[in-house]
Amino acid sequence: MDTNTPANGPGHTHPGSTLSEMDLRVRALETLLVQKGYIDPAALDVLIETYETRIGPHNGARVVARAWTDPAYRRWLLEDATAAIGSAEGFGFSGRQGEHMVAVENTPDVHNVVVCTLCSCYPWPVLGLPPVWYKSAPYRSRVVIDPRGVIAEFGVQLPASTQIRVWDSTAEIRYLVIPMRPAGTDGWSEAQLARLVTRDSMIGTGLALSPDALAAA
Ligand code: FE
Repeated sequence: MDTNTPANGPGHTHPGSTLSEMDLRVRALETLLVQKGYIDPAALDVLIETYETRIGPHNGARVVARAWTDPAYRRWLLEDATAAIGSAEGFGFSGRQGEHMVAVENTPDVHNVVVCTLCSCYPWPVLGLPPVWYKSAPYRSRVVIDPRGVIAEFGVQLPASTQIRVWDSTAEIRYLVIPMRPAGTDGWSEAQLARLVTRDSMIGTGLALSPDALAAA
């Protein structure tokens, strides 16, 4: 977790501590659980390390890049994302919150956006842990009412002719957006293309980077 980002807003810290309210609560909870013997701190470290480094949006980016370059894989992903992503023949990105995946593809006519209106359901095996805004009440409520306005706040401007579809994740189904492949990437390898695929582009609050944007980053 990035502790430099004040998740609860500026000034929301305790006097004499540089930790945010959330950090303090997490530490207190962890200490209590360890003292009571409910959790092993070493196991917790492994879990956090896993979601910080091994599991994250780079996994989803590889899935998208393959869908862009391999038509047979794209078809499989659209027909059975759970298998195409999680099975050994696919990428083997399986685990909690990835049991039932559905991939939705952006086209010039349709742009897909994912939310969980009830809580924070999110496809962990391909995107890692959800960003703070994904779990926020304003995003969850507003994206359903005004998806075009919300994604515009993320910097995404779509033609009026592009329909926006909002997908509400549940405990049963997690969605992965396949963004459109950027122009100017003919002949790029899967690994090169994966670098263009951002986390937000797989939620629908962003687009894949253009080659120029990548070069400038
Ligand atoms: Fe949820």
